[in-house]
Amino acid sequence: MDLAPYACDPAQTRGRRHPEPDAPTRSAFQRDRDRIVHSTAFRRLVYKTQVFLNHEGDLFRTRLTHSLEVAQLGRSIARALGLNEDLVEAIALAHDLGHTPFGHAGQDVLNECMAEYGGFEHNLQSLRVVDELEERYPAFNGLNLCFETREGILKHCSRRNALALSALEPGGVAQRFLDNTRPSLEAQLCNLADEIAYNAHDIDDGVRSGLLNLSQLHELELVERYRRQTLSEYPALQGRRLLYETIRRMLSDQVYDVIDATRAAIAQAGADSLEAVRAAPALVCFSTQMREQSRELKRFLFANLYRHPQVMQTTDQARQVVRDLFSAYVQRPQEMQADFARRQDTPQAVADYIAGMTDRFAAREHARLTGQQVLA
Ligand code: MG
Repeated sequence: MDLAPYACDPAQTRGRRHPEPDAPTRSAFQRDRDRIVHSTAFRRLVYKTQVFLNHEGDLFRTRLTHSLEVAQLGRSIARALGLNEDLVEAIALAHDLGHTPFGHAGQDVLNECMAEYGGFEHNLQSLRVVDELEERYPAFNGLNLCFETREGILKHCSRRNALALSALEPGGVAQRFLDNTRPSLEAQLCNLADEIAYNAHDIDDGVRSGLLNLSQLHELELVERYRRQTLSEYPALQGRRLLYETIRRMLSDQVYDVIDATRAAIAQAGADSLEAVRAAPALVCFSTQMREQSRELKRFLFANLYRHPQVMQTTDQARQVVRDLFSAYVQRPQEMQADFARRQDTPQAVADYIAGMTDRFAAREHARLTGQQVLA
C-alpha cells in the first residue's frame, strides 16, 4: 500500500491501551479490522434497523449492509488519495456498533431515559463497545483497538462526555473535542462516506418500500441530473433499472467529487503530515456544489422518508418498546442477562444491555416483560 505523507501509518500508531506484541504478518489496523469483524456486536448489526425495521422486508439495508457500503465507498476514496484503506475499513465497519435497536428512535428514547445519568450517545456507545463491552480476550475487556481506530469511531462527542473521557484517558481520543483539532483523514473520510452511503441507499429503500415514488425524485437536482444522463444513453430504460443506474452514477460522481475536492483542500492547506492534518480545518470534503446538492437530498429524505407517517408510526412503537424495557429492567435488574444484572451501575448497565439488542430480541423481551405484542 502506497501511503501518502498525510495518511496514518500503522507502524507509527499511538498504540493500544493494553500493550500487545505486533502480529507477524498483519499491520495494526488490519488486525483492528479483523477484530471488529469477529466481534459479537458486529454480527448483531445484521438484525438492527437502519431506517426500516428488520422484519419489514428482507431487502432493505440493515446496519450491517450499511456499514459494508460505507467501507466500500471509504476504501475507494482512500485508495485514490493514498490514505490507509485498512484503517478506513476498520472505522467504517465499527462506526455503528453502538446503535440501539430500531434506529434513531431507539437512541433518542434511550437518551431521554438516561438523562439523569449522563445521557446516551450512539458514537460514545460504539466506543464503549470496542473499549469495554466486548468480552473476548483473557487479559482485557473490549477489543483493545489502536488509538487511530478508536478516534475514528468517536465521531462526535459532547463537551461534557469529552471531559469525562479525558479524565479517564488524559490526552486520549476525546482530547480533540476539547482543543478543537481534527481527527485523521481516514476518520474524516468515514464520516463523509457514511453520509454518501445513506443518502443513496435510503432513496433506493424508500422507493422499494413504496414510501417514495420515482416522480417525487425529479425535484432533486442531484438525482435528476443522473436520471437525464442515463435516459439520454438508454431512452427506453424505466422502473428499478433506471433508478439503479441513476443512483450508481450519482455515487460514482460523488466519489470522484470527494477525491478531487479533498486533494485540492489538502494541497491548499499544505498538509504534508498527520500533525498538519490535525491542526488544519476539516479537509475531506465535497465541492461546494456537491455539498449543497447533497444537503438538499438529505432535507428531502427527512421530509419525505424519515418523517413519513408510516415510518413515524413504527417509530412511535419503537419508542414505546425501548421506554418500557428501560423501566422494566431498572425496576427488576434480575430480568437482564447475569453479566448485566450483577453490575452495580444499574441505569448504565440497562442502557448497555438495551443498546446491544437486535430489533427482534428487543421486541421479544418487551412481549415477555409486558405481555404486549408491539413490533413483534
Ligand atoms: Mg452510519
